[in-house]
Amino acid sequence: MTRSGLRTLLLIVLGAGLLSVGWVRCEGTPPTVEAPDQLILGKTGQTVQFTISDSGAGPKSITAVLVHAKGEEPLGERTLGIGRWLPLGSPAANSAEFSVDPKALGLADGEAALHISARDHSLRGWFSGNEARLEIPVTIDSRAPRVSLEPGITYARRGGSVALAYRVSERTRRDGVEVGDRFFPSIRIGVEEPADQRGPGWRIALFPLPIDQPGATPVVIAEDAAGNRTQATPQVRIEERHIPEATLVLPPRFLETKIVDLADAVGVNPDDPLKAFQEINSRIRTENEQRIRAVIRDSVPVPLWEGAFEQMANSKVTSPFAEKRNYLVDGAKVSESTHYGYDLASLAGSPITASNTGRVVFADELGIYGHCVILDHGLGLFSLYGHLSNIDVTVGDRLEKGQALGSSGQTGLAGGDHLHFALLLQGDYVDPVEWWDARWLRDRVDPKLAAARPSR
Ligand SMILES: [Zn+2]
Repeated sequence: MTRSGLRTLLLIVLGAGLLSVGWVRCEGTPPTVEAPDQLILGKTGQTVQFTISDSGAGPKSITAVLVHAKGEEPLGERTLGIGRWLPLGSPAANSAEFSVDPKALGLADGEAALHISARDHSLRGWFSGNEARLEIPVTIDSRAPRVSLEPGITYARRGGSVALAYRVSERTRRDGVEVGDRFFPSIRIGVEEPADQRGPGWRIALFPLPIDQPGATPVVIAEDAAGNRTQATPQVRIEERHIPEATLVLPPRFLETKIVDLADAVGVNPDDPLKAFQEINSRIRTENEQRIRAVIRDSVPVPLWEGAFEQMANSKVTSPFAEKRNYLVDGAKVSESTHYGYDLASLAGSPITASNTGRVVFADELGIYGHCVILDHGLGLFSLYGHLSNIDVTVGDRLEKGQALGSSGQTGLAGGDHLHFALLLQGDYVDPVEWWDARWLRDRVDPKLAAARPSR
C-alpha cells in the first residue's frame, strides 16, 4: 500500500469512528427509570432503589427532590458511570438509592411527592443529556394504628383455643396475635380481603395456644402500610398443660402385616418392617401434616358451626389429646410421636358424622390417617376424621351437624377400629374438649363473636 493509500484508509476509519461516536453521543432517547409506584413512609423512613437504563450513551446521573406542603427537600444527586462511546447490544443499566426519612427532615404527616430526574451521557440539550422525569406519590404516616381490646380477663388452657375481639383504628397490612414465635391473623367476620390490606374496625382473633410454645402469652399486634406497629397485651390467664405419656408396644403381627401393607401403600420399602414403621412414623407423618396444612390454608371468614361440637356417638376415649407416645419393640424404644387428637372407639364400622356444620375440604387417602375427611367450620377451624373404612362425601359438600360422612375403620396407622378425631385452628391442633362443651362456647367464644360482628 502506498503512503497516500494508508492515509486515506486511516481517514476513513477515523471518520467512521467519529461518526459512530457522534451518533451515540448525540442520540435523542431519554433513559428509563424503574421505581416504586408509590411510597408509604412511616416513623423509620426508607431506602428507595432506582434502576436507570439507557440504550444509547448510557445513564449519567439521577437526582431526587421531596416536594411537600411546606417546600422542597433535595435528597441529592448520584452519578452513574462514564457512559459509552459505541451502542453495544443491550441498554446500559445502573442502580442508585436514596434514603428518605421524613422524621429526620422534620416533615409532618400527609401527602408529598418524590420528583426524580435522570439524565444520560448524550450531548443533546447543550451537553446536559436527555432527561427522564418521574413523580412518585408519597404518603407520610408516622402514627401507628390504635388497638382497642374488649375489656375483661380471658381464661385459657395451653393446647386449647382463645377468642379475643378488638378494634383497629385504621387500615392494616398485618394484625393478629403473636404467641411465642407464632403469628395468627385476626378475621373480620364476613369480609373477604387481601391478607395485607385489611380494613379498620372490629375483628375476632380466634387462635390456638400451641403446646409447643409453653409459657408463651398472646400479644395483639397491628401494623399499617407504613410499617408503624402497635402492640397490646390482653389479659389472658393460661393454665399450663401436663403432657401425658403413653407406651405403645408394637407386636410382631402388627409390624409384619399392618406396617408391611401400609409401607406398600405410602411408598416406603417394606423389607424391614421395623425400619418401615420408623419411616412411616417420622417422614410420612411429617409429609401428611404438611399436606393437611396445605388443605386448610383457606377458611371461610364466617363461623359455620352452630352450638357445641358433637363427640362420636357411644364412643369411649382410648387416647387423649397431646399424649406423648413412646413406641417399644422388645422393651426398647424405637420411635415416638405426639398424639394431636382423640381416639374414639365404638363398634367396628360405626357411622361417623360431622361434629358440626361445615364444608368438606378433603375426602381421600392420607397416609397415616388412612381414609380421611376434613371439614372447614369457618374462621380457621377444621375437624379431621381419620382411619375411616369408607367415605360417603366429596370435596365441596356442605354437611349439617350430625350428617353421616363415612364409617369407622382402621385404615392408615391404626391398630384397631377407631375414629381419630382432631380439631385444627389456624394451622395448629387444639384440644377438642373445649369445643365439645356448650358452656365453654357460650362463655368464651360467642361473646367475642358478638363483639366482632360486622354491624357493630
Ligand atoms: Zn389417633
